[in-house]
Amino acid sequence: MSVFSHPEFDHHEHLSFVHDEASGLRAIMAVHNTRLGHALGGTRFYPYATDEEAIRDVLRLSRGMTYKSAMARLPLGGGKSVIIGDPRKDKTKELLHAFGRGLNALGGRYIAAEDSGTTSEDMKCIHQVTEYVTGYHDKVDFEGRTHSGEPSPATAYGCYMAIRAAVEHHLGKDSLNGLTVGIQGMGSVGYRLGRLLVGGGARLIVADVNESVLAEARQELDAEVVSTEDIYDQPMDVFSPCALGATINQETLQRLQASIIAGAANNQLDRPETGQVLFDRGICYAPDYVVNAGGVIDVYYEQSGQYDPERVQRHVGGIHSTLTEIFERSQREKKPTSEIADTIARERLR
Ligand code: NAD
Repeated sequence: MSVFSHPEFDHHEHLSFVHDEASGLRAIMAVHNTRLGHALGGTRFYPYATDEEAIRDVLRLSRGMTYKSAMARLPLGGGKSVIIGDPRKDKTKELLHAFGRGLNALGGRYIAAEDSGTTSEDMKCIHQVTEYVTGYHDKVDFEGRTHSGEPSPATAYGCYMAIRAAVEHHLGKDSLNGLTVGIQGMGSVGYRLGRLLVGGGARLIVADVNESVLAEARQELDAEVVSTEDIYDQPMDVFSPCALGATINQETLQRLQASIIAGAANNQLDRPETGQVLFDRGICYAPDYVVNAGGVIDVYYEQSGQYDPERVQRHVGGIHSTLTEIFERSQREKKPTSEIADTIARERLR
């Protein structure tokens, strides 16, 4: 198994393999780039079939965090960690503590936060043995609700601002009135986004695998519910992927009628070339890691001890102007928005 010559290695500064026999912990911590500050990124707990799969994921995700934080104008580097195992069966206090001791060994070069398979409660547990973790404080968000550490409200707000920016630029409208948005995945981010969109005048078409959340969306948000397969075929102005990666691919592109794609899911394009296909077809794609940066902005303020809901909201709201800059430059240089976002991130890193 190669590491230094791995296709996703991309000059990573540090990679740690952490094992604890007593608790069964097998984790990998990756620090991609600390030029702008210490690395901050989530801890994914997932039953990877092979070690290779886990290494590929952690390298890809930690590099992504470098770009995401640079685009969000945060004084942070990029890092990520993965714990190999089934969070429903393998997660114990002992294992999380062993993970926390692994963070101590990095001395603050990498700060962990929640991600798929981990929760703010887990971060609280890890915090019992290390200070190098965030996303566990109770806080009042900018909707005035108290919630435990999780960053989803900020992510949803960033996603809402991204949709507004795309609608202004691409459709020339400064309101969502009369527009239809399709949300794939009504989870922590998708549902909150749905509320914001309805508040802004949009109509929703939603899909999820969770029936109870769909019933709620139908009742509270007057959303039209369609199957997870049919969501791609609906007449809509904006498609907002908020569940899975790689949903924008050759097959779904034949079916999507939306002229804007803006959602919270990571790695929405199945491959980099899909960005060019979207550009050629005149579809306005808001690059995923710019759209979903609200989460890292939120945990940054928490971790640096400067949490203030208004300040976080202002910073997250900046996603609107960042995207407008990307859309305008894409138009000027006749290049896909995904490519422009990468270029700007690299310029900021230099
Ligand atoms: P979540 O797990 O709370 O929600 C995901 C939702 O998608 C769930 O309701 C799930 O039932 C649904 N789903 C699963 N498979 C589906 C399918 N095939 N079709 C439609 N729906 C399906 O996750 P989340 O926190 O809301 O995050 C959503 C996405 O945004 C994820 O890709 C996540 O990585 C990304 N993201 C989240 C944050 C955050 O702050 N939570 C930050 C950055 C990126």
